[in-house]
Amino acid sequence: MVKTTGLSYSYGTEAGFSFPDIDLNPTEHLLILGPSGVGKTTLLYLMAGLLQPSKGNVFIDGTDISSLSRRQLDKFRGEHVGLIFQQYHFVNSLNVAENLKLRQSFPKKIDDKKRAMELAERLGLADHLTKKVSNLSQGQQQRLAIALGIIHQPKVIFADEPTSNLDDANCDTVIELLKEEATISKSSLVIITHDFRVKSHFKNQVTL
Ligand code: ADP
Repeated sequence: MVKTTGLSYSYGTEAGFSFPDIDLNPTEHLLILGPSGVGKTTLLYLMAGLLQPSKGNVFIDGTDISSLSRRQLDKFRGEHVGLIFQQYHFVNSLNVAENLKLRQSFPKKIDDKKRAMELAERLGLADHLTKKVSNLSQGQQQRLAIALGIIHQPKVIFADEPTSNLDDANCDTVIELLKEEATISKSSLVIITHDFRVKSHFKNQVTL
């Protein structure tokens, strides 16, 4: 489902990073660990096609994403990839329900209120649907980012430190939810973290 070969990347004149190859079948998950600054987020950005590698290739569901035009890549990512980043990409002028609805409308037009409600319920956002996102707590914003990353049932979910702002109970809930969602959609889950609470939930781990 996700495969990388010989990936390397350099920011300008810096020495750059070389990454181990990754090969995940559908429903296989991977935890990427490592200290701050080692290149975890860079690897995730490469796998999601948000950065172009200096060398190497990324395949998602058999598609070499570097063979896609910018427009094709945007569409491909919108359909098949779920992104859960530390910097949230909300529309601040919209409320929680409207943000969820908007994510369902691109690139496929899905108007599945039941799914949006179910996710909101499971992520403890059901009582906050009419709140503007700027009025949510940090933890609620993180849980909304998670809902937006999985609402369209992507083939692969990339999550960057998805539990960093969550207490222990919410941490477990979110990891279990991500695993359940991945099972339902037969997708792969790739999580980068330095949160040791997450380690025991995954058997496949790579340390950078
Ligand atoms: P991690 O997620 O493991 O903390 P990152 O991939 O975010 O690591 O960053 C690794 C290193 O790459 C940083 O310490 C920094 O030196 C460099 N870096 C990251 N983003 C940029 C950028 N946009 N421009 C230049 N250098 C960057």
